[in-house]
Amino acid sequence: MRKPFHDAILALSADRAVAAIVIACAGRTFVAGADIRKFGKPPERPHLPDLIAALENAGKPTVAAIHGAAFGGGLELALGCSWRVALVSAKLGLPEVKLGLLPGAGGTARLPRLVGASKALRMIVSGDPVAASQALADGLVDEVFDADLLANAIAFADQATVAEEPARRVRDREEKLFQARADLDGIDAEVAALLKKVRGLDAPRACAEAVRNALTLPFDDALAAERAAFFALLASDQSRAQRHLFFAEREAVKIPRIGPDIIPRALRSAGVVGAGTMGGGIAMALAAGGVPVAIVEANEEASARGMARIRANYDASVARGALAPDERDRRLALMTPTIRYEALGEADLVIEAAFEDIAVKRAIFSRLDEIAKPGAVLATNTSYLDVDAIAVATGRPADVLGLHFFSPANVMKLLEIVRGNKTAPDVLATALALAKRIGKVPVVVGVCPGFVGNRLLAARSAELENLLLEGATPSTIDAAFVEFGFPMGPFAMADLAGLDIGWANRKAHGRAAVIADALCELGRFGQKTGRGYYRYAEGARTGTVDPDVETLVAAKSAQAGSARRQIEPGEILERTLHPMINEAAKILAEGIASRASDIDVVWVHGYGFPIGKVGPRFWADMEGLTRIVERLDHWREATGRGTFSVAPLLRDLAAGGGKLAEFKNPTA
Ligand code: NAD
Repeated sequence: MRKPFHDAILALSADRAVAAIVIACAGRTFVAGADIRKFGKPPERPHLPDLIAALENAGKPTVAAIHGAAFGGGLELALGCSWRVALVSAKLGLPEVKLGLLPGAGGTARLPRLVGASKALRMIVSGDPVAASQALADGLVDEVFDADLLANAIAFADQATVAEEPARRVRDREEKLFQARADLDGIDAEVAALLKKVRGLDAPRACAEAVRNALTLPFDDALAAERAAFFALLASDQSRAQRHLFFAEREAVKIPRIGPDIIPRALRSAGVVGAGTMGGGIAMALAAGGVPVAIVEANEEASARGMARIRANYDASVARGALAPDERDRRLALMTPTIRYEALGEADLVIEAAFEDIAVKRAIFSRLDEIAKPGAVLATNTSYLDVDAIAVATGRPADVLGLHFFSPANVMKLLEIVRGNKTAPDVLATALALAKRIGKVPVVVGVCPGFVGNRLLAARSAELENLLLEGATPSTIDAAFVEFGFPMGPFAMADLAGLDIGWANRKAHGRAAVIADALCELGRFGQKTGRGYYRYAEGARTGTVDPDVETLVAAKSAQAGSARRQIEPGEILERTLHPMINEAAKILAEGIASRASDIDVVWVHGYGFPIGKVGPRFWADMEGLTRIVERLDHWREATGRGTFSVAPLLRDLAAGGGKLAEFKNPTA
C-alpha cells in the first residue's frame, strides 16, 4: 500500500484546493507496524522513509488521526505529520527493539524532538507503548478525543490551517533537545542504567546510540546512521532469533486438531490447593487477572504461613513502587484462605499445588471429584508426575489436565499446559483462555516425566556432577552459562529453587548425586537455608563462592579417583547443551511437543534461554546439527555414558542436512 499512499500524498500536496491533509485508517487500528514476514525480502519503492519525507514536505498542515495502535512504522509515519491527534483508547509505541531491531524510518531522530531525549530513550529502548493520555502529556500527540476521531481530526486540521503559526515539521523542532544537548553525561548515565537490564543484546544498545545521534548529529546524518544500524541489526542472528520467537509464541497457541469452534468453559472463580511456594504464586497470578480464588490448605498454620508470604510479596512490590497499595488490597480481597475443601464447590477451575507425591495428589483429586461442581476444570501443577494417573483418581478424567506454572508463579511468563490422554478439547481451550487472561505464554505439551521444560532440564543437568568431579566448580560452570547469555547458571538456579526437592526425588527413585546429596545431608538446601552451592548473606539473593563447597567437591573427586583438570567453558557447554538438543529431538519424535518452536518458547520463558539465541531448537539449527551429533558421538566414546547417545531423529536430520525446525510429527 506504500505506492498508492505516496501517490496520494504527492497529489494532495500539489492540489491547491486542499488546505490540509488528515491521515486516518479504516478498520480496527491505525497503521500498527510493518509486516514482519516481509523483513529480509527485497524492499519495493517507495520505502517508508520516502512516504514520511513526502508527508513532511507536503507544504501544508498534515494531521495523523490515530485509533487502535500506532506502533513501529505506523508511529514513524505519524511522526512525519505536523500534528497527531488520537482517540483516548489509542496506544503509541516503537516496539522494534523487541524484535532485535531499532525504528528504521526516523523514529529515533523524531521522537526525541517531541518528547525530549529521556522519554524517547525509555520508550525506544524498552519498546513499551504509551497510552494516548500519556502521549498527550509527553507532547507526542497534540489532542485526545473520546469519540468521532475523523470529524474531530478534520476540525483540528481546519483550526491548524487558520492558525497564525505555520505547521512545523517535526525534524525542525529542536527546543526539547536543548537541555539534553547541554547534559550529554546525564544522558549517558540514563543509557547505562537502561542497558544494564538487557545485557548481551545488541538492539537496545543500537536504539540508545541512535537517540544519542539525534542529539549530536545533523538531522539527516542521524537518519542515515539510524537506517544503516537498522539494516545491520536486520541481518543479525539476534534479530532473526527474536523474530523467530515472535512467530513461535503466536504458533504455540494453536493446538493441533482444536479449531475456533471449541468454546472455552466459563471462568468466574477458581480454587488453589496448597498455599506453598507455588500455590501462593498461582493465587497471585489469578488475582492479577481479576479471578476470585479460594486457597485451601491442610491446616490453619500452613494457611496462615501461606497468606503471610503472599502479603509479604505484595508489600515488597508496593515498597518497590511496582504495585499501587489499593491494587494490592483489591487482589488480597479476591483471595479466601480456608482449610475447608467444600469452599471449592463453586469454583470453575481448581489448581492443585500440594506436595509432589502421587499418593497425595491422587487423594486430593478423588476428594475434588466429590466436591467440585460438574464441568469444573481440575488441574495439577505437578512438575514430573503422570497427569493421566492423577486424572483417573477422579470419575471425570476428561476435565483434568496439567497446568505447570514456573517459580515464582506470579512472575514467570511460561505456562505448560499438559494435555492428558483423556483431556477434553474445551478444557484445553479453557486453559489457553486462562493463560491469556493472566498474561502467561502458554505451550501445550503431552504427558511424560518432566514434560518439555523439566525433561530438557534433566538432560542439561545430567553431566553437571561429572563436570564437578572432573575439575570444574559451581562458579566456573555458572560463569560459562552466564557468558552464553543465561541470566544465571544451573547451580545458582538450583540454590534458588531449593536443593531438597531434587534430593527427595532422587531418594524416592533410589538415585544418588554424590555432591548434591552431600550438600543436602549438611542441611544446605540453597537460598532458603542461606547455604547451598553458594553462601548467602542474610536476605541476599546472589551468593558468594563458598570455600567449604570447593573443599567438598575436591574431596568427592578424590574419593571417586578422578584427577582434577581445568575444564574450558566450551566443554562445559557442549556436555550440557548438546544433550538438551538430543532430548528435544526425542520429545519431537515422541510427539510430546507439537512443533519444534514450542520447545524454544518453553525454554525462553521458563528457563531464561538467552533471547538473542532464542531457544534450544533455534540455537541448534544455528550451530548445525552435524556438529552437534559429532560432538555427542565424541563424548559418548570418551565417557561411555548413555547421556550422549544420539537420538535417531537427530542423527537422521543431521545426515539429511535437515533442521529441527522442519520436522513435523503427524501424531503430535
Ligand atoms: P510447597 O511445599 O512449598 O507447598 C506445598 C503446600 O501444599 C504446603 O503448604 C502444604 O501444606 C500444602 N498441602 C500439602 N498437602 C495438602 C493437602 N492435602 N491439602 C491442602 N494443602 C496441602 O511446594 P511447592 O514448591 O509449592 O510445590 C507444589 C507443587 O508444585 C509440587 O507438585 C511441585 O512439584 C510443583 N512445582 C514446583 C515448582 C517449584 O519451583 N517449587 C515449580 C513448578 C511446579
